[in-house]
Amino acid sequence: MLITHDTRCALDTVVDLVNTAPEDDTTPDGLADVAALENFVRSHEMSDVGALSEFDLSAVRQVRERFAAVFAADDARTAAGLINELVAAAGTTPRLTDHDGYDWHVHYFAPGASVADHLAADCGMALAFFVVAGERERLRRCEAPDCRRAFVDLSRNRSRRYCDSRTCGNRLHVAAYRARRKEAAG
Ligand SMILES: [Zn+2]
Ligand SMILES: [Zn+2]
Repeated sequence: MLITHDTRCALDTVVDLVNTAPEDDTTPDGLADVAALENFVRSHEMSDVGALSEFDLSAVRQVRERFAAVFAADDARTAAGLINELVAAAGTTPRLTDHDGYDWHVHYFAPGASVADHLAADCGMALAFFVVAGERERLRRCEAPDCRRAFVDLSRNRSRRYCDSRTCGNRLHVAAYRARRKEAAG
């Protein structure tokens, strides 16, 4: 499937958003305060976002939870229902833009949308296109033990099982190999 620059950005943003959620009671929330949210908005170059408040923070956390459910969905129908709710609640105003030197692409968030609605509309539509293309299964959760991070599998044969952070995937095997060698070397 064709993945344009802006879709790619929206995917990166939604994956990072879902992965800011604390995994359990002992890990910190990646969006612990308004400053963390401001940092998130800046690092993902979200356009047209104004001053942020506690209200924005709690709204974004709610949207984050719903996106997490999309990645955890067992089938396309469940994912579609969740995405429909997210996008409908956000309200959308599709419009063409070529801001900041990017090629023409469509923004979905309504003018003046809150940051939560902005995320729900644009990231929701990016995920919607995966469902439309029959590619929903590319929206994954890492299979490494103790890691349930979200990621989008953009490999040709949809074969990725692990996220690319921490000790997942190949690094799991490398770590096991090194541990064995160390033990053998005594
Ligand atoms: Zn844009
Ligand atoms: Zn992982």
